[in-house]
Amino acid sequence: MQEMEKVERTARAKLNLILEVLFRRPDGYHELRTVMQELALHDQVTLWNLPSSHRIELVCEAEGVPRDGTNLAAQAAALLQRTHAPGRGVRIHLVKAIPVAAGLGGGSSDAAAVLQGLNALWGLRLEPGTLGELAAQLGSDVPFFLQGGTALAEGRGEKITPLKPLPPCGVLLAAPAGATLAADQVYSRLCLETLPPGGRTEAFLRLLNSPSPRGPEWFQAFGKLLVNHLEEAVFTLNPDVALVKETLRRSGLTALVSGSGPTVFAVAEDRGMLEPAAGELQEQGCRVLLTETHQVKEPEKGGEHP
Ligand code: ATP
Repeated sequence: MQEMEKVERTARAKLNLILEVLFRRPDGYHELRTVMQELALHDQVTLWNLPSSHRIELVCEAEGVPRDGTNLAAQAAALLQRTHAPGRGVRIHLVKAIPVAAGLGGGSSDAAAVLQGLNALWGLRLEPGTLGELAAQLGSDVPFFLQGGTALAEGRGEKITPLKPLPPCGVLLAAPAGATLAADQVYSRLCLETLPPGGRTEAFLRLLNSPSPRGPEWFQAFGKLLVNHLEEAVFTLNPDVALVKETLRRSGLTALVSGSGPTVFAVAEDRGMLEPAAGELQEQGCRVLLTETHQVKEPEKGGEHP
């Protein structure tokens, strides 16, 4: 059989609609319950087969993205090569559209796209479970991107349960110009004693599974449930992020920091509802993007999580 020459994948961004920190574990990680949502915004990953080489090459022109073996896309290829494909080679071409170190999961998504893309390019035929184990070794957010859509993530974030899709929503992403935050930095500022009460995830799952129509009332209830336990730590590290959230709230929008920030997102049934706030934040010099949720086919038995 003729070897494939190249594979192209889209690597989409994510939001955390709910992020609850349950406790700090003896291994130093935090135990989480988070509802993740895949977005249309994406990086483009192209993988070229290097049949006569065992090199892993990376081409990426985006600022702030490592071009060496520390890039998560290169790490994913190296892990797959080491464990299942000795002697194989690839050139990875990465075109970034997802803002870097922004709480949108860009590096993790690139890594998941490389695992799936190389599984096809190198003809490895690895099962989803095997890819899931490799993904969890690369980072807590990587397993989510193997399936995307709407999902509950538990443990460090690596235990994934697919959920019913969220109704299609417009999404505004905004951050103070030039702001970046590393997840470690944010977790080190987290004060577990002053976190808001838990239980939002369960309430959110009940709402997602309810048969009620997805009209304005449903969206209002949805907006009231969104929470991120990392938000206060993010505001302490960069108070301008709180100002971005305030601008969005003054426009009547539901807004929340995504993951470890500094991106603040607002969701609305209709993208047009987001445009005035997007204009205002752009005038203030913020980095602003308009996108939407990305739906995958509904899982056969998803959403019935206890
Ligand atoms: P985290 O929660 O891990 O901080 P994030 O979603 O906020 O992630 P990323 O865009 O993944 O942000 O970038 C986090 C860091 O990972 C960056 O500072 C960057 O140096 C490094 N990195 C490694 N590989 C990539 C990649 N393929 N794309 C973007 N950043 C990458």
